Amino acid sequence: MTDVMNKKKIGIVGGTFNPIHYGHLMIAESAREQYCLQEIRFLPSGHPPHKQHTMQASHRCNMVSLAIADNPFFILDRREVESQGISYTFLTVENLEKELPDAELYFILGGDSLFDFESWRKPEAILQHCSILAAYRKQERQEGFFQQIDLLNHKYPGKFFPLDTPSLEVSSQDIRKRVQSGRSIRYLVPREVEDYIRAHHLYKEAP
Ligand code: ATP
Repeated sequence: MTDVMNKKKIGIVGGTFNPIHYGHLMIAESAREQYCLQEIRFLPSGHPPHKQHTMQASHRCNMVSLAIADNPFFILDRREVESQGISYTFLTVENLEKELPDAELYFILGGDSLFDFESWRKPEAILQHCSILAAYRKQERQEGFFQQIDLLNHKYPGKFFPLDTPSLEVSSQDIRKRVQSGRSIRYLVPREVEDYIRAHHLYKEAP
């Protein structure tokens, strides 16, 4: 049996990636560096329970693929977009653990998602299979953020870890709005993603 010290440490960044942007890439890179992760998997969600009318999965996957192409630690994992039905995180991590029994899994998320975590389906089941690395996004929320980490660790001991990351106030929603109104998205997304959005005329409709 592989002991804990020899387990491969794998990070998972789940999201709609509609589109992927530098905020996503930055939390992945910060997690890799701070927690010595050996691989980061980007998992675009297929049918997220909380977001309707999402851009078709093939475009979202293609943009992730372009954005991570130059980073050998980053991998696109299509399991959620290829599965039928709603993508629940607890099923995804259960599935990943079965497939990768010699890995230690870390689910990476933004600080805002940490506050929603307990409303996700079966949070305790998620934590059976992975730990959570939570990035904090805004200076002023740091105190509340650490209180939330403490509160969750009280309930689920040793499962939540803070992720120190440069704060990038970028969101997919903001990018969609900018494209729709003809504003620049340069330096918010990798150049290849920007070109892809333009070439495929994405986000022209009102978000
Ligand atoms: P939308 O604006 O469409 O709601 P989003 O930009 O929040 O999307 P998602 O794909 O829903 O992106 O997010 C995936 C994960 O990345 C979530 O855990 C979210 O908290 C995190 N995240 C998104 N943007 C940032 C950012 N700028 N900094 C840190 N984390 C982020």
